[in-house]
Amino acid sequence: MDLLKECAEAKRIGIGGHAKPDGDSVGACLSLRYYLKKKMPEAQVTVFLEKPNPVFAELAGYEDIVTDFPEQEAFDVFFILDCSLDRLMDGAKYARAAAKTVNIDHHITNVPGSGTVNYVQPQVGSTCELIYDLIDKDSLDRELAKILYVGMAHDTGVFQYSNTTPDTMRKAAHLISFGFDFYRIIQETFYQRTYLQAQILGRALMESIRFMDGRCIVSVIDRKAMDFYQVTKQDFEGIVNELRNIKGISCAIFMYESAPLEYKVSMRTDEKVDAAQVASHFGGGGHARAAGCTMKGTFYDCVNNLSAEIERELKKAQ
Ligand code: AMP
Ligand code: MN
Ligand code: MN
Repeated sequence: MDLLKECAEAKRIGIGGHAKPDGDSVGACLSLRYYLKKKMPEAQVTVFLEKPNPVFAELAGYEDIVTDFPEQEAFDVFFILDCSLDRLMDGAKYARAAAKTVNIDHHITNVPGSGTVNYVQPQVGSTCELIYDLIDKDSLDRELAKILYVGMAHDTGVFQYSNTTPDTMRKAAHLISFGFDFYRIIQETFYQRTYLQAQILGRALMESIRFMDGRCIVSVIDRKAMDFYQVTKQDFEGIVNELRNIKGISCAIFMYESAPLEYKVSMRTDEKVDAAQVASHFGGGGHARAAGCTMKGTFYDCVNNLSAEIERELKKAQ
């Protein structure tokens, strides 16, 4: 796909990503905007996202992200990044009204894509890596390199998960050659927790429950705990990865109560469980080793329903 050809003649370009934006979706939206503004200075390019975590505030264009989804004149081109159209939430109205939609994503559950033009590559670790592939490398500068690096690092667990390839590392090496302080920004956006976030992580680990002979683990934070600690969904980033790191675990589940009797579920798995398969059974999706969904019912209903699907995966792997 040729980004500039897709945008030829476009005067108004919109860009959106999924709700609860992570480093990759923020990075993909901001890097694409930065690139298009550089290449098409006449065009108006706007990013629409649910309010991202302020740790990303130093990325170029963060201040210009529109978070309240106001009514807009139809866009000539609307980019759907790091997700399918249905996960844009309030942003879906812009995509539906746009003359053209371009979907750039790497979720296996979004193949073949939900745009009028699709570039969905599930074998690639992050949408930022796809943006890197699609841009003209001459336009890379320190700011653009930093945004792309942050997105790639976040979705690969800082180049540690199995979605990291030799190509990912070559691209990352090229990006850090632009001279931004990559160690600091990854420390501040990926590893660092506020004291409150560390406390809620501690509580989630303390109250976790193992099941299926210790091969699965689940932890839940309900509304009462969220109110007591005064935390929001942004404060739960990384908890599921800590559960996944526990010896013997094939499937780690973290859930929080997103509304009364509704839970947002995050899953991380080893090669014995296809997380995307389990999540898509409940209307969600994602990748083989990391996926999510939203489920209705009590905590116990949700765990029972998930267990049946996880068990099916574990049996297949035997
Ligand atoms: P999370 O557990 O929210 O960090 O999500 C893990 C991975 O699954 C990410 O790549 C998400 O974009 C994806 N994901 C989470 N929830 C959903 C969903 N409801 N539908 C499709 N993909 C999802
Ligand atoms: Mn994402
Ligand atoms: Mn991603």
